[in-house]
Amino acid sequence: MRKKIVAGNWKMNTTVPEGVILAQDVVAKLSEVPSDVNLVVAPSFVHIAQVGEVVNGTSVGLSAQNCADEVKGAYTGEVSAQMLSSIGVKYVILGHSERREYYGETNEKLVKKVNLALAEGLTPIFCVGEKLEERKANKHFDVVGEQVKEVLFTLSAEQMANVVIAYEPVWAIGTGETATKEQAQEIHAFIRATLAEKFGALAEEISILYGGSCKPSNAQELFAQKDIDGGLIGGAALKAEDFIAIAKSF
Ligand code: PEP
Repeated sequence: MRKKIVAGNWKMNTTVPEGVILAQDVVAKLSEVPSDVNLVVAPSFVHIAQVGEVVNGTSVGLSAQNCADEVKGAYTGEVSAQMLSSIGVKYVILGHSERREYYGETNEKLVKKVNLALAEGLTPIFCVGEKLEERKANKHFDVVGEQVKEVLFTLSAEQMANVVIAYEPVWAIGTGETATKEQAQEIHAFIRATLAEKFGALAEEISILYGGSCKPSNAQELFAQKDIDGGLIGGAALKAEDFIAIAKSF
């Protein structure tokens, strides 16, 4: 049985006090969420310790939105995987399209980050997805296949077993436009088939989340797809009510 996961990527939103309230609101509604659904919140680095105090001891997992591609040392402004694990962080979003696009994250860098995160016992939520022009040119399978192969094919099966994948078509992120359930299922199945080329039956155990304008009104039809195991949620994760409604959509 694959893990069902709904993860909220708060991005660069909320002040720390607002983030603490948001986390408290999520925790307050936790009893509404089926026990087999794993909720994760990913606030900014600045929020993590305080949000951690709210979610520690609950079933909500704490995630970072990024980590450094070096272990430690003279890397001003960076936050290491070890620092994150030392304060109870369990997940880290890696390779988000915004980081690939605005901060020059390459697959090469992501190999280092994924390895460092795994070495610290963090679960990477590894993001893949094509841009609009790539989808229009029918290149989405090539692009996503390359992202999966260049990063995840470098891992051992033991490492891969601790990775979660998020398929996020860039054209659907924050745009209000969502992939149809058929488009999403097609590429999720493709990602799983690609994983199977290297990891065999393990591919069936890997959770693959959908992200891109996922909201209460479309989560149910997306999560009903055979290869969609949950969601990575941006905008809708900033309202506890919507985030919880999404988590109840399986
Ligand atoms: C995201 O950026 O991870 C995301 C899915 O954003 P949104 O839900 O706002 O499209």
